[in-house]
Amino acid sequence: MQTTRSEELFAIAKDLIPGGVNSPVRAFKSVGGTPRFIDRGEGATIWDADGNSYIDYVLSWGPLVLGHAHPQVVKALIAAAGRGTSYGAPTALENELAQLVIDTVPSVEMIRFVNSGTEACMSALRLARAYTGRDKIIKFSGCYHGHADMLLVQAGSGVATLGLPDSPGVPASTTSNTLTAVYNDLDAVRALFESNPGSIAGLIIEPIAANIGFVMPHEGYLQGLQDLCHQYGALFILDEVMTGFRVAPGGAQEKWGLDPDLTTLGKVIGGGLPVGAYAGKRKIMETVAPAGPMYQAGTLSGNPLAITAGLTTLRELLKPGVFEGIAARTADLVRGLESVAAEAGIPVQAGYAGSMFGVYFLKEQGAPLIDSYEAAKLYADPPRYGQFFHAMLAEGVYLAPSQFEAGFVSSAHGEEKIEQTVAAAKSVMVGIGK
Ligand SMILES: *Cc1c(COP(=O)(O)O)cnc(C)c1O
Repeated sequence: MQTTRSEELFAIAKDLIPGGVNSPVRAFKSVGGTPRFIDRGEGATIWDADGNSYIDYVLSWGPLVLGHAHPQVVKALIAAAGRGTSYGAPTALENELAQLVIDTVPSVEMIRFVNSGTEACMSALRLARAYTGRDKIIKFSGCYHGHADMLLVQAGSGVATLGLPDSPGVPASTTSNTLTAVYNDLDAVRALFESNPGSIAGLIIEPIAANIGFVMPHEGYLQGLQDLCHQYGALFILDEVMTGFRVAPGGAQEKWGLDPDLTTLGKVIGGGLPVGAYAGKRKIMETVAPAGPMYQAGTLSGNPLAITAGLTTLRELLKPGVFEGIAARTADLVRGLESVAAEAGIPVQAGYAGSMFGVYFLKEQGAPLIDSYEAAKLYADPPRYGQFFHAMLAEGVYLAPSQFEAGFVSSAHGEEKIEQTVAAAKSVMVGIGK
């Protein structure tokens, strides 16, 4: 596979942009090698600058649930652009998307649109603090909620419990109110509530921990967290930036019958353009300015281009059979990967929900279940994933360039693409099993 052009472009980029990329994981650091510079995408396929094509399971890290350049989305965007891209004034379109989300995501009664998942989570926590008059928040090690200062605490053990920041530039004073617990450990959260009486504003969690690979919640765990929050007067905040419109049309809260106080959304809700949202119960959302005193604003928030992409994408996704079709293809893919791994004698832990999936390569056969970031660090085998990743890339399959990221399927991934992917994995697994 010729990659000269990507190599040249990466060399130029590194001189212009830190690390050559505008978001770190794109740089292929954890798998090594040169990131592919992408030239175009259509349906389930992307083409790089050297003209190589790949079946894409990254899908811009989740947003493209209909695949690249979906004809309806493109058509709607062209029409919207012709009427102006942003006015800084309200539009009827925003009402339409707001109503659609309220009708689709069970707990949501009101919604505020922002421009990214980061903004959504940052604002939701400000709201939790404003509404409860409390300062502390609980998050989970390995859960990612964007790059706001107070949320850049995720490292394990000692660092985590002390609330020390993960990144230079984040003052300890900013994270001193961030308490961290191990994912899937309910008792740890109860202990935090007990040792911080009356001071925890809210708890934020990814319903599936999918920024460390793919970790499912234990049965009843999320419900248990919701109950604890309510027992101690804190808000239960479900970060559905990734799981929203993917785990079920109404997100993880629909799948597991949860009733979060606040929900954060992003990715699919923007259909490939920058949109995020925080949403939830009316009495809480009315704390947000100008209805209430909590300030939050955005020059381009709710712009017609982004809202059109989201609205068109969701309307297509919610047509009868579309979601179910993507979910069925996802199940076929994961079962296929599991079976070729088993044939090759390679230990994996695979999982999926709706149109999201993840496959851990394990250090050894019979490793304990990966159910937290701590367990992922112990039992997953990133070097072997790196081998798999590069061999799949050579076969024309583009997976996440890190073992600790989830994968995504779109409505454009037909049976044929799934079969092609599994066949590629079969030959690759035999090679790396040796
Ligand atoms: C991607 C992601 C975010 C951050 O969204 P951005 O749009 O990248 O700022 C927040 N939470 C979760 C769960 C995510 O997967």
